[in-house]
Parts: sequence; C-alpha cells; structure tokens
Amino acid sequence: MRLHFTKNLDARRETMIREHLLGRDIHDPMVIRAMREVPREAFVPEEMFELAYEDYPLPIGEEQTISQPYMVAYMTQALELSSTDRALEIGTGSGYAAAVLSRIAAAVYTVERLHSLAETARLRLELLGYDNILVHEGDGTLGWPDHAPYDAIVVTASAPQVPKPLLEQLAVRGRLVIPVGPTTFLQTLVRVRRLGEDEFRTEELCGVRFVPLIGAEGW
Ligand code: SAM
Repeated sequence: MRLHFTKNLDARRETMIREHLLGRDIHDPMVIRAMREVPREAFVPEEMFELAYEDYPLPIGEEQTISQPYMVAYMTQALELSSTDRALEIGTGSGYAAAVLSRIAAAVYTVERLHSLAETARLRLELLGYDNILVHEGDGTLGWPDHAPYDAIVVTASAPQVPKPLLEQLAVRGRLVIPVGPTTFLQTLVRVRRLGEDEFRTEELCGVRFVPLIGAEGW
C-alpha cells in the first residue's frame, strides 16, 4: 500500500515538472534536476501528502507557508547558481527551498525567525541527509554575517525595501532575489546584481505574493 502511495507521488512529481515547470519558463537543467530530486511530500504536513505536487503554497503552521513549487523553481533559476556557489536563504520555513538550493550550490545557509519552524526544518533536513545546509534561528533581515559573503541570496518573504545588510553580505558578481512591496497586495520580485564594491543593478522580474519579512530591516 505504502509503495503504491510513494509511486503515485513520484508520478505526480513528474507531472508537476512537465506541466508547471517545463510547461512554463523553467528551463535550467540544474533547477529541473533539483526539483526532481527533492521529495516535497517530506516537507508538507502529513495530512497534506496528497497535495504535495499541486502548484500552490500549503500551510506549515505558525501562519506560514511552503511556497508554490513553480515559485521555488523560478527563484532558484533567477539566482543563476553554479556548483561552487555559497547561498544564503532568508525564511527557511519547511526547509524545502533550502533543500532544492542545496542540490545545486556547494553550501546553503538558511535563517528562520520562528523557533518551531527552524527546529523542525533542521531536524527534517538532517533526517533526509542534506549535509550541506546550515539552519540558523534569528532575524534574517540582518543576514548571517558569520558566513558572508554569499554568491547568491534569496529571501522568501516580502520586504518593504531591500535590507542593507543583505546587500553588504552579497559577494561582488553575486545575485540577490527578493520580493519587495506592500504586505497585503501584490509585491514585485526583484533581482539585484552586485557589479562592484559600490555598484548594484536592480531588475524587476514579476509580480508575486509572499508573507511579510518581519524584523529590524523588514516590517
Ligand atoms: N522557503 C520556505 C519553504 O521552502 O518552506 C517558505 C518560506 S515562508 C513563505 C516565509 C518564511 O519567512 C516563514 O517561515 C517566516 O517565518 C520567515 N520569516 C519572516 N521574516 C523573517 C526574518 N526576518 N528572518 C527569517 N525568517 C523570516
């Protein structure tokens, strides 16, 4: 029975990849491979197994969500990761996006402000064998200076503006992807490239809707 169930989920993962990723604008083979390797069902509440490969966010407790698979793939692709990159994620949540990033980057540092989510994600990632991810509990609007600079930074909650500490912790030639805008309506996903010590270029990517980034340099 259990085997049948798992097989069913494998088929749904393939459908998700075909319809929601390849069928849209996700074309980076490394992103597709990562999305194929990470079992999203292991990151959603048990009673939601059946919904693990639907293309929408799901509740993970504490009024927070695991992001829609397409958005995880889109943001990962926008980071233009390579296998030697060190990546910082702000907003660990379930740990799913960190797991996806870890299949491409050399190391992933992820920060979550809520104790219960940080603890659950840390344990889950350890049990699943992701050994290149470090989870930190704290205010991610301040980044994680101990491991800076980062080649890529992704923020999975929406900010009033790009937090300065994240710009400071971005390596030259690094990419930062973050939703910016009001808390309740549509926000804009932006990508900031650090071109030089004091030179940054910002591009608007698309409209998105995320939970608020709460902290000293957030809401
Ligand atoms: N990346 C997550 C995943 O794969 O499950 C989804 C993240 S959820 C949309 C946003 C997360 O950002 C929530 O878990 C929330 O607690 C967290 N968050 C909000 N403000 C934060 C802050 N200042 N520092 C760290 N995490 C924060």
